[in-house]
Amino acid sequence: MKAAVVRAFGEPLVIEERPDPEPGPGQVRIRLEASGLCHTDIHAAHGDWPVKPNPPFVPGHEGVGLVEKLGDGVTHLSVGQRVAVPWLGRACGRCEHCLSGWETLCEQQINTGYGCDGGYAEKMLAWADYAQPVPEGVSALEAAPLTCAGVTTYKALKVAGVRPAQLVAVSGVGGLGHLAVQYAKIAGATVAAIDVTDDKLELAAELGADIVIDARKEDVGAVLKRHGGAHAAIALAVNPAAFEAVNAGLRRGGKLVMVALPAHGTIQVPIFDTVLNGTSVIGSIVGTRQDLAEVFQLHADGRTKVIYETRPLQSVNESIDEVLRGQVKARIVFDLGTGR
Ligand code: NAD
Ligand code: ZN
Ligand code: ZN
Repeated sequence: MKAAVVRAFGEPLVIEERPDPEPGPGQVRIRLEASGLCHTDIHAAHGDWPVKPNPPFVPGHEGVGLVEKLGDGVTHLSVGQRVAVPWLGRACGRCEHCLSGWETLCEQQINTGYGCDGGYAEKMLAWADYAQPVPEGVSALEAAPLTCAGVTTYKALKVAGVRPAQLVAVSGVGGLGHLAVQYAKIAGATVAAIDVTDDKLELAAELGADIVIDARKEDVGAVLKRHGGAHAAIALAVNPAAFEAVNAGLRRGGKLVMVALPAHGTIQVPIFDTVLNGTSVIGSIVGTRQDLAEVFQLHADGRTKVIYETRPLQSVNESIDEVLRGQVKARIVFDLGTGR
């Protein structure tokens, strides 16, 4: 099987021929159909974060495909079933976090495409209990971006406790942001979408954003304040300055939800304003299996639209460059054989 491999941080990925991996107990082997390119994969390939993966590794945590082989003890999945393999590759299932519905905070978790090989390949292994069945009517190409971009933004809005009649600011309308806009609308909110490219701002409006803010030309905080200030701001732009800009647009009691993970990112949070205005800063990391099931259900019910462009896996390096240049409409999905 072919896999796109990070051999060293910051170097182009290399397409390698590898033997098919053998599923161990509790695992399955998946023949991938589609695999989304999340900006996190770029951070992984660049070694951007304090906790780094160990090259060589195969990135990718939006892999979707058909179960091809069951490891010992796997009884709830069947060969031929379509599953998605998210960032949360596995968790311990026993700790305080796992038992309280916060498996995404498990300290024993293994992350797909980071702590183990991921979905930039024709085949991959997954822990069966954490491989998410994809419902009928959701294609592999559409399921892929939902597997990270979808679940992450859906969860971020849950964490913010967004309610109808609230103003939600979505900062960065990329892979994550184009779905965040839609989940905020589903929650009943008024949505202000912020980006720095015309295409993304147009897309946000097409997807239902009520207010669009061009961060190149406008003072994001001031525009949000003119609209009364945001009850929640979802920070998805890979730029610390964008976090500060949107934080300045919160209304009293508003919540900044940090989701993007720029390398070495820190922001200045003014103590006086935070205290007097009673605002919160919250981190939000992906979502649980239940969150992903809900994301798939919403899509199966026709309530969300996934915007994607397909590429062959061979163009992985060019695809990464396209994302970094902001040239992708929303998400790139590697087509690994949906036509087979
Ligand atoms: P992306 O590149 O598709 O989208 C980023 C968007 O931000 C682009 O549309 C870009 O034009 C826009 N942008 C850039 N500068 C901006 C600015 N100053 N103001 C407003 N918008 C700006 O990336 P993505 O795949 O959506 O991922 C976004 C970030 O989220 C990455 O850092 C990724 O690692 C992180 N992420 C976090 C989680 C989590 O669980 N917390 C999950 C997935 C991804
Ligand atoms: Zn745990
Ligand atoms: Zn991701």
